[in-house]
Amino acid sequence: MKTIELFRQDVYMRQAMATVKAITEQKGKVLVNLDQTIFFPEGGGQSCDVGTIAGYEVTDVYEHDKEIFHQVDCSVDDLAEGQEVELNLDWERRFDNMQRHCGEHILSGIFHREFGGINRGFHMGDQYMTIDISLEEKPEFTTITWDMAKLAELETNKVIWQNLPVITRHFDTKAEAENLPLRKALALEEDITIVCVGAVENPSDCVACCGTHPSTAGQVGMVKIFKVESNKGMFRIYFEAGQRAFKKYQKELDTLTELGNSLSAGTDDLMNKYKAQHAKNQEARTQLYHLKKEVIRREVSSIIKEMSTASSPVIRHYDILTGDDLSAIARDITESIPKIAFLVHNPTNTVFLCSNGKIDCGKLVKDNASIYNGKGGGNKNLARAIFAKEEYIPTFIDLIEKHLR
Ligand SMILES: [Zn+2]
Repeated sequence: MKTIELFRQDVYMRQAMATVKAITEQKGKVLVNLDQTIFFPEGGGQSCDVGTIAGYEVTDVYEHDKEIFHQVDCSVDDLAEGQEVELNLDWERRFDNMQRHCGEHILSGIFHREFGGINRGFHMGDQYMTIDISLEEKPEFTTITWDMAKLAELETNKVIWQNLPVITRHFDTKAEAENLPLRKALALEEDITIVCVGAVENPSDCVACCGTHPSTAGQVGMVKIFKVESNKGMFRIYFEAGQRAFKKYQKELDTLTELGNSLSAGTDDLMNKYKAQHAKNQEARTQLYHLKKEVIRREVSSIIKEMSTASSPVIRHYDILTGDDLSAIARDITESIPKIAFLVHNPTNTVFLCSNGKIDCGKLVKDNASIYNGKGGGNKNLARAIFAKEEYIPTFIDLIEKHLR
C-alpha cells in the first residue's frame, strides 16, 4: 500500500505517529518505509525534509517507484517492522523551503503576467535562488532591464502584502487540470497537483507543483531580486524569499552602515561622500605620480654625476621607492654606466644590477645568486637578485665586484 502523504493533507503537521512497513540496508544506508509520513521527499526543485524517526536522524527522503524512502541514521536492528514510531519534522528547514518555493511561484507568475516571460529553469541554492525567464509571449519585451525586475519585485511583494490564499488542488487527469488558467503547459498526464495563488478566476500564479507551500502568500514575508543577467537567450533572475531575503538584507545593511561609519556618512549621503573621497584619492595619486617622477629624475641625474667621477661601482639603497621605480631609474642610467651599478631595494632584499650591456647582468645573477640562496634573473642590461636575508646582499655585491676586477 502506498505511503499516506500527511504533508499533502496538512502542510503544517510537524509531528505524527506512523508504523514501520519495512526497514532495509542498501549500500550501507538504512532505509525505512512507513505507512504514513510527514516528510516531503525531494521534488519540484525543493529539497527533502529532515527530522527524526523514533529519535533517529532522518538524513534523506526520496521517492522511488511511488514509494517514499527515509534514510535514517540507525542500524537495521534499531527499528522493527510493525513498530509504531514518532516522527518529528525539522520545521525551520521546512518553513524555509515553503517560503522560498512559494516566493518563486509568485515571482514567476508576475514575470508571466507583466512581460509574458516563461520560467524555463529554477534553482534553489544555498546562497540564492535563480529562475531563467524566457520572453516568449509578448513581442514588445525583448529584454529584462533592472527597472522591469524592480517592477516585478514590487508586484510580487504586493501579492504578499495582500496575503492572498495559496490553494493546492489535486487532479487525476491532465484534461481536468487544464481547466485552470495555468501559466505553463503541463508535463504530466495524470496525478497532477496545481498550486494557485489568489482567486482562481484571476490568480497571481497558477502552476503545477508537487512541493510544499504555505497556506497564504503573506507567510512568504518578502521577495528581493538582487541581480539580472542574460543567459543563453534567457534572463537569469537572482533572488531570495522569506527569512533568507530578510537576513541577507540585514547583513547588507550592516555592511552599508560600516562603510558609512568609515566615511562619516549616513546611508543617504554615502554615495556623495564616497565620490568626494574617491576624487581626493585620485588627486593624491596624481600628485604622488608627479612627485615620484621628480624624485626619479633627480636620482638619475645624481647617479650619473657620481658615476662620472667615482672609480668604484655605484651602490645605492632605497626604502620608499618601489621595485618598479628602481627599474625606471635603471633604464635611465644604463647608457652612462661605465661598468656596473647596484640599486638595492631594502624592503624586499632585492639587488638590481644594471650595465650598458657590455657586462651581462642576467648571467651574473644566474651564476652567482644561488651561492647565497638567492634567486632571480634578467637580461644583459638589467637583472635582479632576490635574497632571503639582508646580510647576503653586501657579500653578493663584493663577489660580483671581484669577478669584474
Ligand atoms: Zn512549488
